[in-house]
Amino acid sequence: MDSLGQALEEIHDRIHEEADWGLPAQYIPELANVVPEQFAISVVTADGSCHSVGQAQRPFSIQSISKVFALIATLGRIGDQLWTRVGREPTRTAFDSIMLLETDSGRPPNPFVNAGAIVTTDALLSGREPRQALAEILGLIRAMAGTDDIYINNEVADSEKRTGARNKALAHYLASHGNLRNDPDLTLGTYFHQCAIEMTTEQLAMSGRVLAGLECAPRTISRMHAKRANALMMTCGHYDASGEFAFKVGLPGKSGVGGGILLIAPRKASIAIWSPGLNGYGNSHAGTRAAAMLARSTGWSVF
Ligand code: GLU
Repeated sequence: MDSLGQALEEIHDRIHEEADWGLPAQYIPELANVVPEQFAISVVTADGSCHSVGQAQRPFSIQSISKVFALIATLGRIGDQLWTRVGREPTRTAFDSIMLLETDSGRPPNPFVNAGAIVTTDALLSGREPRQALAEILGLIRAMAGTDDIYINNEVADSEKRTGARNKALAHYLASHGNLRNDPDLTLGTYFHQCAIEMTTEQLAMSGRVLAGLECAPRTISRMHAKRANALMMTCGHYDASGEFAFKVGLPGKSGVGGGILLIAPRKASIAIWSPGLNGYGNSHAGTRAAAMLARSTGWSVF
C-alpha cells in the first residue's frame, strides 16, 4: 500500500479506537436518527486517483457544504454585487446566530453563516422559480463532481422546513431590513432543499478538484471564484471554530451539520471526510480530529 493509503488506514483505525463520536444534529429530525458511529475519508490527488477508507460510498446530507456551491453559482451569476448584501468577515458567534444582524442592520457577516447563506440563495433565486435555482446548484455540483448521480433528499428538506424556527426567524429578520428580494418562505424552501443535497465522500472529494486547482479537474468555474471560495473556507468555513481549525489543520475547509467536511490542499489534493456526530460548534467531532491527523501525516498545510 502507498503512504497515503496507509495514512488513511491509520486514521480510520484510530478514529474507531477512540470511539468518541459526538451527537448527530438534533434540531433536524431526519438527521438526529443517523447512527453516529460512521466514518469515511476520500482523497483525490493531483494525478486524479481517489483513495478512500470507511463508508465512502454512503450518501450523507451535505448541509452547509452546499453553501460553497451556492456561493460559486451566485458569484457566477451576479459577481461582486453579492458583497453589497453579505460581508466577508469571520465571526465569534454561532452558525445560526442573529446577533450580528441586529448590529449590522441586516447585513450578514459572511456567506457561510446561515443568515449569509440565506441571502446568497435569495440572490441566486431572484427572478426565477426555486426549482431553477436548485437545478443550477445541483448542475454545478454534478459538473464539478463529474457524475449525475447526486440528488436532493426531500424528506430531509421537509424535516428542516417543519422544525427550522431559527432559520425562519433569520429570514424574516433579513426581510425586515430589506435584504431579501423574494418571499422569505420561498427563499427558505430553496435553502432547505439546497442543504438537503446528498453526496458520498468520493463524490464530494471529486467535486473539490477544481477548488484545489488540480490538473485533472474539469474547468467548471473561474480561477478567481475558486480562490475566493478557498479564502472564505479558510476564514469562515467552520463558523466560530474557524480559527481553531486553521490552527490545527491549516487548510481551507467547509463543514456541514450532516457531519461532512470538504477540505482543500491547494494543488495537492481535494479531501472529503464524513462522520455524523457533531461537536459543540456544529462541526463533525471525529471528522475534525481526522482532518488534523491527515494534515499532520501528509504535511499538507498552506502555511
Ligand atoms: N441546514 C442547516 C441549517 O440551516 C445547515 C447548517 C450547517 O450545516 O451548519 O441549520
